Amino acid sequence: MAKVLVVTGGSRGIGAATARLAAERGYAVCVNYLHSQAAAHGVVDSIVQAGGRAMVGDRPRAIAVAADISLEDEVLRLFQTVDEQLGPLTALVNNAGILEQQRRVDELDAARLNRVFAANVTGSFLCAREAVKRMSTKYGGVGGAIVNVSSVAARLGSPGEYVDYAASKGAIDSLTIGLAKEVAAEGIRVNAVRPGFIYTDIHARGGEPDRVERVQSAVPMQRGGQAVEVAQAILWLLSSEASYTTGSFIDIAGGK
Ligand code: NAP
Repeated sequence: MAKVLVVTGGSRGIGAATARLAAERGYAVCVNYLHSQAAAHGVVDSIVQAGGRAMVGDRPRAIAVAADISLEDEVLRLFQTVDEQLGPLTALVNNAGILEQQRRVDELDAARLNRVFAANVTGSFLCAREAVKRMSTKYGGVGGAIVNVSSVAARLGSPGEYVDYAASKGAIDSLTIGLAKEVAAEGIRVNAVRPGFIYTDIHARGGEPDRVERVQSAVPMQRGGQAVEVAQAILWLLSSEASYTTGSFIDIAGGK
């Protein structure tokens, strides 16, 4: 049976590393993105180049699909595109996520809170819903695996930086625990990774591109992490090597 994976936010950072590694491990991959069309197609091109050809049988090895996961219509279109172009879904990595400028809680407004929760929480719920509808034996599927990308922020709280973001990741942890139990008897495993300080563009969006350098001395391993180090844990959780693991978390944070 073909392995078919959706990686939300697969154009850059942890999502791009996950998409590339998944393709190496034999998945047909949908690289979802919001705005970075060139970067998303670059990930697809690198997958095709590494695999030697664009098609596996009559299906593409990888596709790029623009969709804002915070919007229900766009999520529906994303998963329909995967049905049509890649075939039956077997895995989802709920990776897309945002944070905004570093602020204290007493400086946050409702519009910002709604943006952060819509992208990080609503988006992950909607994508999980569509994946369950396709993979659950309850709906005639053959099972599958979901990995949610949470953050150590869920347990550290990100004071003075973005408590809203940390709280959205707390919600992802609860989603992981609850959904894992809901669908455990329907052939679907649901787990999460909690990255620490990883070298990606996300920190620039918070207003501090060099944040990892600033905080790395507070990490027991004294360094930031690479996106591929997160991708490796995600791929293990998706794989049959994790066949008895559900509702679990792997922290990839150098001991933080
Ligand atoms: P990143 O480099 O900023 O990449 C974010 C990705 O998400 C991009 O592909 C972006 O698409 C996509 N995206 C954002 N909003 C979206 C939306 N509404 N719909 C669809 N796609 C959307 O971030 P990253 O550091 O790799 O983070 C990936 C995940 O890891 C996030 O959930 C983040 O919270 C989590 N995480 C990161 C760190 C870290 O230190 N980097 C630590 C803990 C957790 P475009 O390219 O089109 O904008």
